[in-house]
Amino acid sequence: RFHQIKDKEIVQELHLGRGTRTNIYSGRLLVQGGGFNDEYDEFNNNFTDLKGTRVVLKILDQSHKDIALAFFETASLMSQVSHSHLVFVHGVSVKGSENIMVEEYVEFGPLDVFLRREKASVTPQWKFLVAKQLASALSYLEPKQLVHGNVCAKNILVARKGLEHGTTPFVKLSDPGIALNVLSREERLERIPWIAPECIDSGAPIGSAADQWSFGVTLLEICNNGDLPMSASTLAEKERFYQQRGRLAEPSSQELARFISMCLTYEPTERPSFRCVLRELTEIMNKNPDISLSNPLPGMNQ
Ligand code: ATP
Ligand code: MG
Repeated sequence: RFHQIKDKEIVQELHLGRGTRTNIYSGRLLVQGGGFNDEYDEFNNNFTDLKGTRVVLKILDQSHKDIALAFFETASLMSQVSHSHLVFVHGVSVKGSENIMVEEYVEFGPLDVFLRREKASVTPQWKFLVAKQLASALSYLEPKQLVHGNVCAKNILVARKGLEHGTTPFVKLSDPGIALNVLSREERLERIPWIAPECIDSGAPIGSAADQWSFGVTLLEICNNGDLPMSASTLAEKERFYQQRGRLAEPSSQELARFISMCLTYEPTERPSFRCVLRELTEIMNKNPDISLSNPLPGMNQ
């Protein structure tokens, strides 16, 4: 269900950070020799190919079999889909007891960090384009009944900056990592407000509506230049927020606020499909070419 990559085909380089039960490294995927056409291989043996393709190595912590299985399932899911705004997963490598997901290295890193750094140069149009690219990836998954389950600005990677005049950004949604239902309850609570309320208590099957909620929160995060008000809250505060059906503060543009609040409905069936989201986004964008997407960081409205 996914390409098995040999240990000797990968080179591990710099540590980039920690994720949910993972350590992430940059690295290289070496080109395999001995293809069926030797001449073709020779032709490709230029300098870059000797160094291989730049990749990201996600090394799963030593963990229980269930977690490893869920990690492989994600790799499998990502290997079966193909969309320009979804990150490319090369495959999985098993090195002794280490399980490694090998995925495309996306040059300019996660969107939340990017926005915090570049907020002075990012325009409302830039944000709309990024939101539309994310919505297009999710509307590709929706009819296949594939749920991402971990949509947030951290998991959107910037492939092209699009900050210079006449250029446009290009983003890719990263793999979701370990499935929600095998994470601990604490780990799920930590993901408030991105995680849909119905996903806090495991057991129920997770539908595309979960991604619709996360999309709404991610849109707010983009509006707020990579920041969300609940980041400093404790797990108990986060849990109480959902129990009390709290609402996140919305951007000053009324139309956008209405749109985001449709995604942030506690009743999953009332959230708009991604087909609808794409249409609405385009409409809002066309109607308000100079809409202001940034506002001072709002607090929580309960
Ligand atoms: P989670 O499942 O919670 O998303 P993860 O294992 O995907 O966990 P992240 O926290 O998303 O880990 O990523 C850790 C860091 O690795 C990011 O902040 C980013 O700097 C880097 N990173 C992850 N994926 C890529 C990628 N495809 N290209 C470049 N950098 C990446
Ligand atoms: Mg991630």
